[in-house]
Amino acid sequence: MLSPSSVGRLLRRLHALRSRDPVPEELRGWSWWSPPLRPRAHLGLGVSEAAIRWCPSRRDLYLRRVRGLEPPPSNGMLRGRVVHEAFRRSAVDVARLHVLGREPPGIVAELVADAEEAARGIAEEAGAPGLEDLAARAYTRFVFLWSGWVEETGQPPWYTEYAIDGSLLGLSPRLRVNALGVGIVVEVKLGGWRDDYPAALAGYALALEASHEIPVDYGLVLLVSGDASRVEAHPVYLGADERIAFIEARDEAIEMFLSGQDPGTPSECSRGCPFARLCSPTAPARGGSEAAGEAVA
Ligand code: SF4
Repeated sequence: MLSPSSVGRLLRRLHALRSRDPVPEELRGWSWWSPPLRPRAHLGLGVSEAAIRWCPSRRDLYLRRVRGLEPPPSNGMLRGRVVHEAFRRSAVDVARLHVLGREPPGIVAELVADAEEAARGIAEEAGAPGLEDLAARAYTRFVFLWSGWVEETGQPPWYTEYAIDGSLLGLSPRLRVNALGVGIVVEVKLGGWRDDYPAALAGYALALEASHEIPVDYGLVLLVSGDASRVEAHPVYLGADERIAFIEARDEAIEMFLSGQDPGTPSECSRGCPFARLCSPTAPARGGSEAAGEAVA
């Protein structure tokens, strides 16, 4: 699935989309100094924070950034952290053995034999004790995928947790995209597809274009099933629509922070929202007379 031939097949239909609908210059990241890319304020937003509407009214952002509340991580968040750490660690481990001259079958044999130990480290790093089984499955799955990549290309895995300075676009100077392939930004997501994933990929592409001045037209979402037994790749063309969706979401977030206005609750909340216990108009802000945890008990 991560071999050049399979990635190439996935991207092929994007070439046609790009030639029919090329990215306008004003929507390239290097046009950060002019509208619509120029931000109204530089608040150091994360890409997910700006692009992903975990809460339909975005009250989660208001609670975190304006009221200073931070809920404990939900089970879903912990599982996501485990999968991301397994993705990163497996890439590093495969690259290390590749550099030492091991062949892919030997890399797989060695790393899979040590998967339980790796899983303990992954769960600890993710702050998710008790999720070692998920960590071991995800780690093993990614070891096979990366080894397949090495087998076909003779190259090490993609850069993982690649750092990007997003400050020219009002984003964080320390953004991290899950992986960077040749001209492709890659995000790993646990669970099903969300329609705001393409906007998030466009956010990373814009930040890369702003800081590196190189075009990034394609994205790839690696969807990991809940038990980490399957990984599906979803290619995304980062055209005008995806870029505009990101910029609009960023601007909406900036407006909310600058106004300090409570956006209110939506007609329906997201299932498993980690803010559920804090999302009360009377929950005090951090630094108030009561700790947030006490206020919602
Ligand atoms: S509990 Fe509901 S309103 Fe509050 S942040 Fe979560 S989804 Fe939004």
